[in-house]
Amino acid sequence: ILSLRGVGKRFGPLRALDGVDLDVAPRSFHGLIGPNGSGKSTLLRAIAGEHLPDEGSVSFAGEDITTAQPARRARAGLSIKFQITAVLKSLTVYDNLLLALQAAGAPGLGALLLSRTRRSLHEAVMEQLAAFRLAEHADTVAANLSHGQQQWLEIAMALAARPRLLLLDEPTGGMSPEERRATGELLQPIREHCALVIVEHDLDFIKEFCDRLTVLDGGKVLDEGTPAEIEGSEKVQAVYTRRA
Ligand code: ATP
Ligand code: MG
Repeated sequence: ILSLRGVGKRFGPLRALDGVDLDVAPRSFHGLIGPNGSGKSTLLRAIAGEHLPDEGSVSFAGEDITTAQPARRARAGLSIKFQITAVLKSLTVYDNLLLALQAAGAPGLGALLLSRTRRSLHEAVMEQLAAFRLAEHADTVAANLSHGQQQWLEIAMALAARPRLLLLDEPTGGMSPEERRATGELLQPIREHCALVIVEHDLDFIKEFCDRLTVLDGGKVLDEGTPAEIEGSEKVQAVYTRRA
């Protein structure tokens, strides 16, 4: 579904990304790990279209999107939490998700949403809230959710457009271990229709549910493989011991 070839991005003299290749299969979960400053967030932004790469190419669902604006990427089925899906804290959980569903309907799901009765729209909101353990908080003002619940709401909103690829940058940052585990479980069902590229610091957490991992170091791909291959990789161990 996603393919990057030789992607490079400079910030002045700094090479934040240097010849990065990445392949993500449809409906697979791909983890990005690496030390601080290794380029993980920059890589997600390059995929999202927030930073256009200086070199290389990005293709999504068979289409070259190297220079496409974020809006065109969204129409093609790419969804990035934090971008169009920021939670409006003064609104209820229900209203936030309703807005996300309606906004998503504008380009992509237009026909489907137009044909929806108000009742089925309500059901769609409640179904999505239930999928992220937020049904009982439907009437809670978003500002009063716990940090972890706000993250789940943002993910639920990012999924409103039924994207084919979801990008998440450290979604479990600041979560309790229990919330972290739950996040892994809550993300599983999206595999039915959606691939995931997820940045995480915690290798133990991410290896549990990713099909493949890419390890970045200094803007370059240090290694790529299944979680078992990455755990056994001497190159990766060298970087992680160097840090410890
Ligand atoms: P972390 O684990 O700390 O989130 P990261 O792997 O996400 O790190 P990036 O945020 O992608 O790393 O940053 C890679 C490098 O690019 C860093 O040296 C960072 O300082 C630099 N960088 C990132 N964004 C910019 C920017 N907009 N302008 C200048 N330098 C930047
Ligand atoms: Mg980062």
